Amino acid sequence: ELPAPDADFFSLMETLSLEQQELAAQVRAFMHAEVAPIMNGYWSRDEFPRQIIDSLRPLDLLRRVWNEDGTRKPGATVTEGLIILEACKVDVSTAVFFGVHAGLAFASVALGGSAEQKAEWLPKMLDLQAIGAFGLTEPEGGSQVSQGLRTTCRRDGDGWVLSGQKKWIGNSTFSDFTVIWARDVNNGEVRGFIVRAGTPGYAVEKIQGKIALRIVENGLITLDECRVPESDRLQAVQGWRTTADILKLTRAGVAWQGVGCAMGAYELAVKYAQERTQFGKRIGEFQLIQNHLVHMLGNVTSMFTLCLRLSEMADQGVMQDEHAALAKVFTAARCRETVALARETFGGNGILLEYGVAKHFADTEAIYSYEGTNEINTLVVGRAITGLSAFV
Ligand code: FAD
Repeated sequence: ELPAPDADFFSLMETLSLEQQELAAQVRAFMHAEVAPIMNGYWSRDEFPRQIIDSLRPLDLLRRVWNEDGTRKPGATVTEGLIILEACKVDVSTAVFFGVHAGLAFASVALGGSAEQKAEWLPKMLDLQAIGAFGLTEPEGGSQVSQGLRTTCRRDGDGWVLSGQKKWIGNSTFSDFTVIWARDVNNGEVRGFIVRAGTPGYAVEKIQGKIALRIVENGLITLDECRVPESDRLQAVQGWRTTADILKLTRAGVAWQGVGCAMGAYELAVKYAQERTQFGKRIGEFQLIQNHLVHMLGNVTSMFTLCLRLSEMADQGVMQDEHAALAKVFTAARCRETVALARETFGGNGILLEYGVAKHFADTEAIYSYEGTNEINTLVVGRAITGLSAFV
């Protein structure tokens, strides 16, 4: 009898509360029952399975992280990390759907909304009755988006007129609203708006041909003199500072995506090495294959440990940008290395969707580049440790 593959080699899960361990088990069971059987089909068709929103609802995951008034539960970042980890072990795209809605969009209303706006949206968002998206990146402004924000807003009577484009916006093809970040033509202030689906002048085109995260639907949004009432301007936004606070809150989640993705790939590789036979032996008996597996296990263990500490710091209110940035840089790089070794362990089958590891291999490339590329997060850490900024 061979041991079952288990990426939690140092039993880090056991250091968490019983409630958190139970939550992780629930998400794991959900992913295996509801997502695993259908994911390759949706991946091939470049589509998000919208019906999983209904099957996710009974798990009530958002209420494990957020209160109705937009404040966070004690231990929220660790809890959120575990949800992301367990989802990513099976499918990173599902975690991204959740992260965009429950992280970026929810945090935008929670941090930037007035009491009335929170009361209107947050309960519906908690219940997955209203789905949100987050529109910051533009075709010409990814890394430099803070300085290069070209989408404009102009006050006009009792409302605002928005013009510009947003690229890569996850969930926007079916979301009930997208938070749009724009610069005020009058004073250069950065403002956030809740733009409801179906608003005239707001058009979303699905981005086709992705080689990673194919189950996430990303939109190219065009705002053509799109009119939004003043009541849908996020009233508590204080310029770019609020946008940066939202991104700081969600960056830990992206680091967790790397942990889950790498763990999923590692467990698949161990199982394959135990089963696949070549030269009359199981390939797991070969020293070079064991070397791959041990290297992967060292990676996932260090990533998991780092993210737990990062999230504890976030929950204690002592996490700085550079902590989240280093965790994101480190986990994305280790994830890339781990999924490559896992894919290699599968030989030719490693590039076939049906063996599972190919999806982790491809998805890692998106993790590597979004929510701050590897280079940009590196420069954030470099600035913190030297006191010298490499940014223009
Ligand atoms: P660029 O900024 O053009 O960077 C190109 C290269 O230049 C990178 O290697 C970068 O590191 C490097 N570079 C740039 N500046 C410097 C510098 N100063 N020094 C050194 N190197 C530098 N955005 C949203 O708003 N909402 C979403 O829901 C969303 N979802 C996404 C989902 C996916 C799958 C992807 C791929 C992206 C998503 N994004 C989203 C956008 C994402 O955040 C950007 O892709 C990311 O910020 C990088 O911007 P860019 O792609 O324009 O790359």
